[in-house]
Amino acid sequence: MRFLVIGGAGYIGSHFIREAKRQGHSSVVYDNLERGFRESIPSDVPFIKADLLDSKTLEETIKDGHFDAIYHFAAFALVGESVSQPELYYENNVEGVRVLLEAMRKLKTKSNAVLIFSSSCAVFGTPSKLPISEEDPKKPQSPYGKSKLIDEWMIEDYCYAHGMRGMALRYFNACGADKDGGIGEAHDPETHLIPNVIKAALAKETVTIFGDDFETLDGTCVRDYIHVTDLADAHIKAAAYLCAQKGAIYDAIHLGTGNGYSNLQVVKVIEKVLGMMIEQRIGARRAGDPAGLYADNRKAKKILGFTTRYSDLETIIATALAWHQEAPEGYNRG
Ligand code: UDP
Repeated sequence: MRFLVIGGAGYIGSHFIREAKRQGHSSVVYDNLERGFRESIPSDVPFIKADLLDSKTLEETIKDGHFDAIYHFAAFALVGESVSQPELYYENNVEGVRVLLEAMRKLKTKSNAVLIFSSSCAVFGTPSKLPISEEDPKKPQSPYGKSKLIDEWMIEDYCYAHGMRGMALRYFNACGADKDGGIGEAHDPETHLIPNVIKAALAKETVTIFGDDFETLDGTCVRDYIHVTDLADAHIKAAAYLCAQKGAIYDAIHLGTGNGYSNLQVVKVIEKVLGMMIEQRIGARRAGDPAGLYADNRKAKKILGFTTRYSDLETIIATALAWHQEAPEGYNRG
């Protein structure tokens, strides 16, 4: 298959390109490099540096691209930032997807590509039950989560109104790094648990765990960690599934392992992999953190044949650590 990867210079997009290539598919990257890294795109992958809101360039790209699938990995994804600057999220995440849907609608006679959209378990807010199933009530608590839910609604409406085929893949906690090296999790600022703990451990600094008074096994938050290459593989399966469908179709599917690990359990596994103790302190709760989030992944298994190869926590940590140790200064490292 041939893919247009919007946001292909970001953490998940750049891992997707590599896994797609290993499986024999080709990609074209479309990215404005506002938050992604040029060096994350392999030199043999065609790259268009453009903004998703630039509808002219986008339409030209799609019109003659002969793509089987278009992937949208181009969202802003910092919950705290979305609370203080919601305008960024409604412009980039919501308007960006609307522009993409419009381009796909206008070009329907020229491009039969399916759309695969990166969504998030943040659409649920504090979940009504665990594990979280696709149809559970959605009450996003941040502009980030709201932007993802609005995007899902737009995609569903466009699909059924205009005979398009689309899917939202709701990620739980994406983590880890490509097994062949060269890329990893690179956010600035870094807010995620695994890279923060690894970076603190390597710098012999103290890790802060945000809260230990949640109603969980040890009082710290529980999350469902899925290796980014397993996520990438599920995205390829989603394209194959959608391309085999005739007529309008839309669905939302959860991508998680179904297993929850507490923050303290994650730190323990990092200590084990590193072979050292990590200084830690308990800080205040982080605003908006639900106690537990983990996926009911039965739908992903049934519809996509979803499986995991790298998502046991030790492999996740080992791949992330390898990258943190090799990444050049300034590329991530923080
Ligand atoms: N967390 C923490 N210390 C950090 C970063 C994160 O205790 O330096 C906690 C965070 O409060 C949450 C969990 O780790 O309970 C996972 O957070 P992350 O930002 O990695 O993912 P999220 O589930 O928020 O998307």
